[in-house]
Amino acid sequence: MNTSTDEDHQPQGHIDRYDVIIVGAGFAGMYMLHRLREAGFSVRCFEAGSGPGGTWYWNRYPGARCDIHSLAYSYSFSKDLEQEWEWTELYAAQPEIERYANHVADRFDLRRSITFDTRIESCVYNEADHAWTVTTDKGGTGRARYLIMATGGYSVPAKPQLPGLETFKGEAYYTNQWPLHEVDFSGKRVGIIGTGSSGVQTATAVAAEPIKHLYIFQRTANFLVPGWNRPADPDYTREFKAGYNAFREEARWTGNGTLFPKVKSLGQLTTGPIAHLEGDALKARLEELWVTGGLYFFGGVSDLMTSEVANERVSDFFRQKIRERVRDPKLADLLTPRGFFIGERRIIAENGYLEIFNRPDVSLVDVKADPIEAITPDGVKTRDRTYPLDILILATGFDSGTGAMLKVDVRGKNGQQFRDKWADGPVTYLGLMANGFPNMFMLAQPGSPSIRSQVLVSIEQHVEFVSDMLLHARNTGIVEIEAGREAEEAWTAHASDVAAKSLFARSETQYVGANIPGKPRVYLAYLGGVGLYRKTCDAVRDNGYEGFRLRTANGTVSGSETWSAAGDTPRVWGTAV
Ligand code: NAP
Repeated sequence: MNTSTDEDHQPQGHIDRYDVIIVGAGFAGMYMLHRLREAGFSVRCFEAGSGPGGTWYWNRYPGARCDIHSLAYSYSFSKDLEQEWEWTELYAAQPEIERYANHVADRFDLRRSITFDTRIESCVYNEADHAWTVTTDKGGTGRARYLIMATGGYSVPAKPQLPGLETFKGEAYYTNQWPLHEVDFSGKRVGIIGTGSSGVQTATAVAAEPIKHLYIFQRTANFLVPGWNRPADPDYTREFKAGYNAFREEARWTGNGTLFPKVKSLGQLTTGPIAHLEGDALKARLEELWVTGGLYFFGGVSDLMTSEVANERVSDFFRQKIRERVRDPKLADLLTPRGFFIGERRIIAENGYLEIFNRPDVSLVDVKADPIEAITPDGVKTRDRTYPLDILILATGFDSGTGAMLKVDVRGKNGQQFRDKWADGPVTYLGLMANGFPNMFMLAQPGSPSIRSQVLVSIEQHVEFVSDMLLHARNTGIVEIEAGREAEEAWTAHASDVAAKSLFARSETQYVGANIPGKPRVYLAYLGGVGLYRKTCDAVRDNGYEGFRLRTANGTVSGSETWSAAGDTPRVWGTAV
């Protein structure tokens, strides 16, 4: 039992005071900062990186790019920003997205409120003054009534269990902690472990370098879909920008927040079920979707995640495409995903990945058949042979969803440790708050659509909901906001019920914590869809912040302890982004 008191953890010495402290200057933290500052709150944001952008700051590996059209994968809160920013490609690469993050920071004068190169190590709630005290790795201390954790769903690398990793004599890099300096691949033997989105993008880019040889260590073959990336088309950009408002609004009410743009220059996407189609009609429909490319393909098949027949048909179509693109039938076979539904694991948008296997200087190593036993000073040792390497790249994923929240030493009421609270998996109300941790909000965390949605759509909704709530608190003399225990239980049960109805729930992946030994198995995102989630939050707000306990300085309590689902059928959707 924890017998320490809040006061034991209160740091001594100089304390900077704010209304709100935000942890993280990624896309969530930056918008939160802007919105609250505009509303007149004093705000300080702490960011571990040297620049803004969060995941788009850290994941600067070769080939990193988004897999939603950039015109959509961007902020919608400023109409001027929307119109003035020009994306140069259909799917922008990391350097351009990072430039965009920097542009946003400058345009809205955010930098003066962000402390870069500073990591928050602990956050302690003081019940007496309803405020959080944070301490940084630089020894600084700040205090604020509200603490907003904008720490991201993909910010803590998963450290794979690879004995001997530290002994490797060459250069070793995690894709999600890629260094700021240039990496020279010329004449090098390069190994990449991992064939998720990061591994596939890295492999395609590294293969384009003047390497000596590239070895790709694959454990599980994933379903791939071509992105057909290309330079931005001025007609498409013009049309898209003319219809921005309607597009954004429609996307907010979808399942995963993505929408195939209804723009003449792009053509139309036929949508609907396919389970009833046969022969040429089925083939024509699938070919049409293939040409559309990217994850939009899946928006076109409405029964993908609800009909096993439909799912199997799409899967077979994709498997056939691999055989058409990879010349060596044995290699094509190894690259063919089997044993799971398409969409269950993260579908990967690629641009020329499969073609690299037609080259003599690129090898696929099947580490399911010949497992990696150790990393040696010289390279990778599998059971059957050794692969000498100059550069080893770990594209081995993240401690998804919960990793960043659990990295910080967070203590709520009665000194309760947040790590204890989530010891059996994340429990939240709306993914935004946890009972016992008043005045602390979490953005794009488990229990919200977060990592299974177009995350900017989720982020903007969260930021607007939270800032409205803080304004309401300020206007009505509320000093403490806490998720009700029963509301938290009801929401967590609801999120789990919805996940159980989806084919997603069958997956043994990062989405349920399966990639981290010992991590509790909980579906790490709300699968009811961003539309239903938004509707729920709107109703919560309109019902006087149902499920939240709102306390004024003189002890008056409003809001409510409980929450009950409105009875809408959640849209258990199919695509992930
Ligand atoms: P990931 O999807 O979790 O993939 C990790 C890869 O590493 C898997 O292939 C995994 O194999 C492999 N791996 C892990 N440990 C291993 C070991 N000990 N030996 C051999 N292989 C091992 O991670 P990610 O590719 O970084 O992607 C994570 C998330 O980031 C994605 O879901 C996506 O949402 C996001 N992302 C998005 C983009 C984009 O285009 N917008 C780009 C990159 C990432 P198994 O599958 O067999 O476990």
